[in-house]
Amino acid sequence: MKTVLSGLKPAELEKILNPLPAYRAKQIFAWIQGGTKNFEEMSNLPLPLRRELGEKFLVRGSVLADCLEDSDGTMKLQLELTGGVKIETVLLSDGNERKTACLSTQAGCPAGCVFCKTGALGFRRNLSAAEIVEQFLFLQDYCGAISNLVIMGMGEPLYNLEELRRALALFKERGISPRRITVSTSGVAEGIRDLADKGPPLRLALSLTAALTEKRKALMPITKTNPLPLLREALLYYQEKRRQRITLEAVLLGGINTGEADAEALASFARGLDAVVNLIPWNPVEGLKFQGRPLREPGAAECRAFADMLERKGLSITRRYRKGLGICGACGQLGAV
Ligand code: SAH
Ligand code: SF4
Repeated sequence: MKTVLSGLKPAELEKILNPLPAYRAKQIFAWIQGGTKNFEEMSNLPLPLRRELGEKFLVRGSVLADCLEDSDGTMKLQLELTGGVKIETVLLSDGNERKTACLSTQAGCPAGCVFCKTGALGFRRNLSAAEIVEQFLFLQDYCGAISNLVIMGMGEPLYNLEELRRALALFKERGISPRRITVSTSGVAEGIRDLADKGPPLRLALSLTAALTEKRKALMPITKTNPLPLLREALLYYQEKRRQRITLEAVLLGGINTGEADAEALASFARGLDAVVNLIPWNPVEGLKFQGRPLREPGAAECRAFADMLERKGLSITRRYRKGLGICGACGQLGAV
């Protein structure tokens, strides 16, 4: 099988392309990261070299399977990976300069949160660094320069930390600032500690959603192996080492986690952390149930009341705009097969 080059940094390219000189590796890196999909188009390489490279290597391993665009400017791409499994990746635009790529790290997800479509799919496999980078490249083909990255697509990033790290190293090489990269986790304590110890620098978000233990266990089964106190300790450790504000995300599920006791538990979890709470009204996914009853979107008044409760308890709140609903490209709606 041909080796895929998209996920390699210049130094790694140089090694794999040995005995080609380093400047050739740099040229090839620039072409690949600029969006060129095949070697024939690399016009500053001698023709025989282009042919030789094409015989041994592939620029990208994934192929575009589908592209959907929402009226709000959100774009969702479906990619087919080696072996036939499909994943989705999303680009969010704010209408100005800011273009945010939302990247997946796994096909499906083993965490099984009851409110998430990806969770309902189950787990297929981890993505390689190249497959993570290629999502970025395919989105760039359509939209030009991408300014921000959120690792909030399909999968639990901290269950695939080494490949994610490799992809992040490549984004660093491209000059994307760590301040513009957010990784969201459903709560893998060991992974958070590992990030604290070894980096790379980035913005960290924890999908808390429920801070009452029994409720969180029922909504997010990962709580059984990563209990809330352990998670909180890992976050304190992270902040001690990294000195950086974190985000606590809370998906608001109509009638389930928006009461006074939920707000109190959330506030007490956040106390002592330097955190901002991001409220995300649940995006509808058909067929998902909790304790035998279909999930529903929270009402506007319900969201407002919950935000007020949190603010009265001294928390800072942000609300996430809903984008991509029309193409099922919003949070928790990703699920190619
Ligand atoms: N697996 C990681 C990152 C991907 S999920 C995580 O769970 O953090 C990205 C965000 O979408 C998470 O905060 C998750 O809680 C949220 N989410 C999942 N399903 C959702 C849905 N149906 N509506 C709104 N947000 C959802
Ligand atoms: Fe996995 Fe995140 Fe969905 Fe939970 S919310 S199932 S961790 S992708």
